[in-house]
Amino acid sequence: MRSRFSAFALGLSDYVLETWHPDQRPASLLDDSLTEWVRLEILSSQQQDDAGQVHFRAIFRENNRWNALEEDSSFIRTAGRWLYVDGETAVVSLKPGRNADCPCGSGRKAKRCCC
Ligand SMILES: [Zn+2]
Repeated sequence: MRSRFSAFALGLSDYVLETWHPDQRPASLLDDSLTEWVRLEILSSQQQDDAGQVHFRAIFRENNRWNALEEDSSFIRTAGRWLYVDGETAVVSLKPGRNADCPCGSGRKAKRCCC
């Protein structure tokens, strides 16, 4: 899960596609070159034999606006490797106040950080 996030963040689309279950894998990824993936929070995860569920929140920035993508992802283990099957995704925009903590996770106030 984390490695897929890193691959997304770095634009390593080959890796992202490789770890996608072949039955669900898209031919290519949408161009997200304007998207800056900032932070990943794993909210919960569970595993039962070769099936896994991960609930996560990924913080990203696009055109200087903060957003959070929240997803319940399903994974299946095939030949020792976890493959992404699908997920329920919701994207919300974040509007941090100037005195709120910056969404990037630095611990600094938004007005003194990247915003
Ligand atoms: Zn920041």
